[in-house]
Amino acid sequence: MDGALRDEALRAIEGIFGDRMKRGPVGEEGTRGEALASVSPVNAHEVELLAKVAGRYSLPIVALGAGTAFDAPGAPGNGILVRFDLMRGVRIRGGEELWVRAEPGALWLELENNLSTHGWGLSVYPTSAPRATVGGWLATDGLGVGSFEYGWLSENVLSADVVLAGGGHRTLRGEELRPFVGPGKTAGDGAGIVVEATLRTRRADADVPFGAAFDEPEDLVGAVASLHEAGVPLWHLAFLDPGMVRARGLGDGYLLFGAYPEERAPVVEGALRETFGSHRGRILPAAESYRVWGRDSSRWRLPGRPRPRRNARSSPWRSSRRRSSPRETVRPTPPSRAPPPGPGRYFCWPSTPKRRAGRDGSE
Ligand SMILES: Cc1cc2nc3c(=O)[nH]c(=O)nc-3n(C[C@H](O)[C@H](O)[C@H](O)COP(=O)(O)OP(=O)(O)OC[C@H]3O[C@@H](n4cnc5c(N)ncnc54)[C@H](O)[C@@H]3O)c2cc1C
Repeated sequence: MDGALRDEALRAIEGIFGDRMKRGPVGEEGTRGEALASVSPVNAHEVELLAKVAGRYSLPIVALGAGTAFDAPGAPGNGILVRFDLMRGVRIRGGEELWVRAEPGALWLELENNLSTHGWGLSVYPTSAPRATVGGWLATDGLGVGSFEYGWLSENVLSADVVLAGGGHRTLRGEELRPFVGPGKTAGDGAGIVVEATLRTRRADADVPFGAAFDEPEDLVGAVASLHEAGVPLWHLAFLDPGMVRARGLGDGYLLFGAYPEERAPVVEGALRETFGSHRGRILPAAESYRVWGRDSSRWRLPGRPRPRRNARSSPWRSSRRRSSPRETVRPTPPSRAPPPGPGRYFCWPSTPKRRAGRDGSE
């Protein structure tokens, strides 16, 4: 593109965003390379206008999340970066069942925290929740906390509003979502930018965490296979390898941990005891299970869930939970700082690999 045309394109974009456009070359955190400019839309309409101008001048658009994906988006020299810091609204609606609707810049942790004040939670969320954005995880898809029961993120998106290349705006549901939710399916290949999404939630006011330590990886694998084969109704199941266990100051060896709704305790407790016992696992006391979850620390503020079954009255999370009308709009909270990922590995599983068989969701 010649210089005059490029200036014309940039002037048109400046006309939409004013001082919310930063002229380049801009290299943003989480991207490779430098772009012509970066913009910060405040609503979906501005994203549509941008897509129209970009289409007219053949400028690629690259959406930015928090930059936690392993394959950070590239910023082509003649592209426009879109930051969603100003589009972080979260709405929770419903009566018997709650749903949550979020703009792309909202953090997963904000959604989870907002829902937890009603005794609800997301069906799945990534372990990068303190930093990762709704738009970013939608664009990469994946397994996360809760995937043992609920599977891939893409299976938990009820609808998504997408601005298409060239400027169209569509609300997609069910099968229509497939081309847009998943690696390389959205802004990356010019297919579209997610501007809002409605996500599945679950009742989550009485989750019970559990954990067990294993010396040998074969025993851990055997325990996972047994839980899977027996169809034990857990909500979440994951493990930490010895590197991560040491980095978090949790001792040595492998840790298998997860959570299940308290109402399933009559079925789950016995199954866990039997499985861990027959695979040489040492069951962790409730307080230790909490430490493994790591959510009672300042690193992960997820008040409300899961909470210990015993001593629940003294739980700091219980006191922070308030019951209020489920019909309300929740304002975004300031970004929280997540610790850098420690050494080691953390894996989440779906109990049934469904249509994504073959992807392991590891990180
Ligand atoms: C400590 C840690 C834990 C993690 N845990 C998990 C996990 O449990 N499960 C898992 O699957 N992954 C996990 N990840 C990987 C990563 O966090 C996720 O892929 C994440 O959700 C990406 O979100 P982000 O906001 O950082 O997006 P970014 O990394 O900024 O972007 C990712 C992609 O999304 C695109 N994008 C961003 N916003 C939009 C939008 N509005 N519309 C269209 N495209 C957009 C970008 O262009 C890019 O291609 C983890 C990473 C770390 C570092």
